[in-house]
Amino acid sequence: MVPEPAQTLPAFHIMAKPVGSRCNLDCAYCFYLKKVSLYPDSSFRMSDEMMEDYIRQTIEAHRVPQVTIAWQGGEPTLMGLDFFRRVVEVEKKYIRPGMRIENTLQTNGVLLDDEWCRFLHENSFLIGLSVDGPKHLHDVYRRDKGGKGTFDKVLRAARLLQKHKVEFNILCTVNAVNSRHPLEVYRFFRDELGAKYLQFIPIVERDNDTGNQEGLRVTDRSVEPEQWGNFLIEIFDEWVTRDVGTMFVLFFDAVLASYVRGYSTICTLQPTCGQGMALEHNGDAYSCDHYVEPKYRLGNIKDDPVGVLVSSQKQKTFGLDKTDTLPAYCRECEYLFTCHGECPKNRVLTTPDGEPGLNWLCEGLKKFFAHTQQEMQIMAQLLQRGQPADGIMPILARARNQQRSKFNDVGRNDPCPCGSGLKFKKCHGK
Ligand code: SF4
Ligand code: SF4
Repeated sequence: MVPEPAQTLPAFHIMAKPVGSRCNLDCAYCFYLKKVSLYPDSSFRMSDEMMEDYIRQTIEAHRVPQVTIAWQGGEPTLMGLDFFRRVVEVEKKYIRPGMRIENTLQTNGVLLDDEWCRFLHENSFLIGLSVDGPKHLHDVYRRDKGGKGTFDKVLRAARLLQKHKVEFNILCTVNAVNSRHPLEVYRFFRDELGAKYLQFIPIVERDNDTGNQEGLRVTDRSVEPEQWGNFLIEIFDEWVTRDVGTMFVLFFDAVLASYVRGYSTICTLQPTCGQGMALEHNGDAYSCDHYVEPKYRLGNIKDDPVGVLVSSQKQKTFGLDKTDTLPAYCRECEYLFTCHGECPKNRVLTTPDGEPGLNWLCEGLKKFFAHTQQEMQIMAQLLQRGQPADGIMPILARARNQQRSKFNDVGRNDPCPCGSGLKFKKCHGK
């Protein structure tokens, strides 16, 4: 039965996978490559009929003027450029007056060329380009089917996107290796790649053969909990003193949103899940991109439109489970307002009092939240007063100068003016 409009979500997000899990690369940590086993006899190509259903249903179900049509993989460019030309035609057929449709495309960049980039620019596609840092870090895990590193190809793709003025975000997975080089990674994106929008995605990969969220062990490639915090902190400290307003780090903005508005902008930091589904090439819809497994299959959009599936009881239960399964350790945490136990797929630990469901990243998250609290509060106050967040940079610079001037005439054996109780030479005078 089709629910009444009041029972359906006004807006939602679907990640469509037109080639399923097929990819032209073989990145070591990719959980999605294993999903090939879900569809053993498939051609892994979304039909034009299915593509049209997906777009029409998504547009029809939205009750807000902004609609995002998201393409992901596997590697969606394997569908070929003509498929996306037809996508744009179908969108024009169904768009309603006053509506704005934005296409997003997540890609490894390998197949992009001038013709692709001209098309992406002309049709205002927003690209998510996967890069893990400079060559020696990117090539550790992001390799092709012959085992060769892919950095040179992705750099070429970034330059092509820039040449054609295509807007792109960097999607950087943070793993056991590149997490130890935060500033090198950040400065590479800022100074060498010329990127402005960065999304850091922690690798927390369950150690099993299914690619499902089963078992409590994580692989050695996964980022260490404390290292995730250190990685974010080192980048934050550089960003907050010189790059606010010119570089955009999704995680920082998402935490700041919790301080400003009381809720975050990304699902991992929201109290519930359920507003984003994954759509396989054959029309099967799943609760989330990270839960494409039989247990979380909601149905097929040939039988029930996307608006019905995203508002179904099964999906609501999936969404509420995020809060309902939180251990007391999280419910009593001072950072619950911004963390909410982070993504359920990463909850593989037990709390110090033995309750299951603690997030693998907790130690690092706590460290980051504690370290950035003061600066987040300053930026939130600026924004609440209608001033830009970059006003924090002169505030911090003044504070640093005052601190320095306090130390000018201090003798090496005097007590440190910072109040630590140590001698100056053992503290700020080191
Ligand atoms: S499971 Fe994780 S990625 Fe999926 S909706 Fe929930 S928080 Fe987001
Ligand atoms: S910081 Fe740790 S304890 Fe606090 S809500 Fe997040 S995962 Fe739970």
